[in-house]
Amino acid sequence: LNHFPYQKVLVLGLAKSGTAVAKLLAANGINVVANDLKASENNEHVQQLRSLDIPVVLGDHPLELLENVDVIIKNPGIPYENILVEKAMEYDIPILTEIELIPYFGIEHLVAITGSNGKTTTTTLIYEMYKKGDVPVCLAGNIGHVASEVAAQMSDRQTMVAELSSFQLLGIDVFKPKVAVLLNLFEAHLDYHHTLENYHNAKANIFKNQTEHDYLVYNYDDERVVQITDKAQSKLIPFSRKQEVLSGTYCKEQAIYFQGTKVIDLESIALVGEHNLENILAAISVSKIEGISNQSIQDVLTTFTGVSHRLQFVKKVEGRLFYNDSKATNILATTKALGAFQQPTILLAGGLDRGNEFDELGPFMKDVKALVLFGETANKIKKMGEAYRVPTIKLVETMSEAVQYAYDISSDGDVVLLSPACASWDQYKTFEERGNMFMDYVHNL
Ligand code: ADP
Repeated sequence: LNHFPYQKVLVLGLAKSGTAVAKLLAANGINVVANDLKASENNEHVQQLRSLDIPVVLGDHPLELLENVDVIIKNPGIPYENILVEKAMEYDIPILTEIELIPYFGIEHLVAITGSNGKTTTTTLIYEMYKKGDVPVCLAGNIGHVASEVAAQMSDRQTMVAELSSFQLLGIDVFKPKVAVLLNLFEAHLDYHHTLENYHNAKANIFKNQTEHDYLVYNYDDERVVQITDKAQSKLIPFSRKQEVLSGTYCKEQAIYFQGTKVIDLESIALVGEHNLENILAAISVSKIEGISNQSIQDVLTTFTGVSHRLQFVKKVEGRLFYNDSKATNILATTKALGAFQQPTILLAGGLDRGNEFDELGPFMKDVKALVLFGETANKIKKMGEAYRVPTIKLVETMSEAVQYAYDISSDGDVVLLSPACASWDQYKTFEERGNMFMDYVHNL
């Protein structure tokens, strides 16, 4: 850790990242106190910190913890309405997230990916292309290990490819990627950010410290993205499915081009879905900036069929095609999934209520013959389905009921799609658990 400007740090939230940060800082001789409201004494993270003599305060957020504190490193999930956070803001104590440590480990080769949807797919594609192109690379952020922990262990030659959320990006001060990728902007996480503007500003943080020596890869087809990139100082590398953007990556005559040179024919790409084409254009842009050969890019794109829980093909049962898109935790993702099919579709949806309505799903109900709904938002989605005259709408309690019902009413040639348009936390621990359960029931049909 070089030139880290803070002497006393309060780490708020002892999940995986908070624990890693507390350990890193303590190992670098920095005075750390950790605080968590919910963790109990026998939590493994708490025990780890105790064994290292790092002070841990549990069960409460006493305001005394702010005494002499120079900075708070906050878990991205803790809202800014938290009492300690609000007080700290009154006292002008900076509130940062763990990724802010990355620059202090001297990491220069950093690719950071954000957007409402497609982060994991794009991050994975970039990682695979770098590997094929023999560029030393490691994955970090939401997709892999805690980014600051990876940063502490990296060699100078390696490039970090990090998937970042808007929550993480809100808490940065000097963090700066060499290459930033902004995929798309959609109304997401309004329960946390409150307004769309706040959310957009958080995403724009990804390039706020970039200079003319850095790159910003961005979606030229997304108006909201184009609007906020106005403020960027970086070299702009646009990508587009619709227009020939000669300074970037684009589709023309059934092929993908980068700055006037053909990279790959569309027909040889294994990944399905128009939305994935955007992820591919973004990944190609980053790889070409790095100088990776078209051959390496082709080797990846002709074989890569997708990340699990993202429009993942599960099984064909008596002519019905089952797809697991459990990772579709917002409306945009579900519209993309529905757009990938022309067959009659039975959609399984619903989950955590973030306060939004589902009218935007309406125009995509054309081929939907039935909605099977569960979770907190079941009734809201039902309202949308009725307005758009979906022939069959059924409310169920469990995933097993949902799969069984969908199967019972399905016919040969139908698609049965789990694409919930909502987060999973009302009924499941994670979207992976939800998707795995769906797949288990499908396999048992
Ligand atoms: P993230 O990591 O941003 O959540 P993923 O790659 O895991 O993104 O994909 C999440 C969901 O979003 C998937 O269900 C997929 O169908 C959908 N999706 C993926 N890429 C895009 C995109 N570029 N635009 C819109 N939706 C997308």
